[in-house]
Amino acid sequence: MGVSRGLFVSAASIAVLACGPLTVTEERRLGDQFAYEMRSELPFVYDRVIVQYVREMGQGLIDASGPQPFQYRFYVVYDEDINAFAGPAGHIYVHTETILRARNASELAGVLAHEVGHVQRRHIAENYNRARNARIGTDILALGARAFGGEMVGSATAMGGGLAAATWLNSFSREAELEADGFAVWTMARAGWNPLGLLSFFESLAKEGGPNVPSFLSSHPATEDRIEVTRVEIQRLDRTRGLATSDGGKLEIIQRRIRLVTGSRR
Ligand SMILES: [Zn+2]
Repeated sequence: MGVSRGLFVSAASIAVLACGPLTVTEERRLGDQFAYEMRSELPFVYDRVIVQYVREMGQGLIDASGPQPFQYRFYVVYDEDINAFAGPAGHIYVHTETILRARNASELAGVLAHEVGHVQRRHIAENYNRARNARIGTDILALGARAFGGEMVGSATAMGGGLAAATWLNSFSREAELEADGFAVWTMARAGWNPLGLLSFFESLAKEGGPNVPSFLSSHPATEDRIEVTRVEIQRLDRTRGLATSDGGKLEIIQRRIRLVTGSRR
């Protein structure tokens, strides 16, 4: 489906898009369009208790990470694969399976902090710029055309392909992944979470191996590499004592609620 849609992205629209790096204002506009498209492409969990739990955890991490150029939004997606991903301008999506498989709240906080890191360090913007300037990643170009092109781009304004764009936007370099991990470690500690949660989530997923390794882990760098770098980063912290691993049973209540709401038997 990407091919036929790609043909509609005219040369004119690509020429319009090929300019300087994405500004914060432009990224917000792209993020609005992205979030709009995700609403029709993803099965969201709308249960207010579940969504509020994730939003509060996310907000706590954002508050601890200093000034941010974006208004972050967190969404819970019903999906049986462990994953989480970021859209432009702080729209962050976490799968229900990720919440269910977290063994404690600090593991989930680690995943959220990692995704916030990709946004805050402008990795999403970098990926957008790279795809646009190389004129690859047709789905990103189409998303950009829909966000910036207005009526001049014709069929590129049609909906669809937001998820494919999300995959492009979340294809990070080794450096970007390690930077997001480092960001997560420091942000977690400042927010009162024990960063060992990030490490233990990596380790439990790595043990599973095979096709079950989620895409946010199985891309490069290798998981062992990330585990090692994250461990070193945690050692550089002054202390991890006193930092929270659990949130007093709240996560477990949310996990039960997800099973109830989604009808998951596990
Ligand atoms: Zn990542």
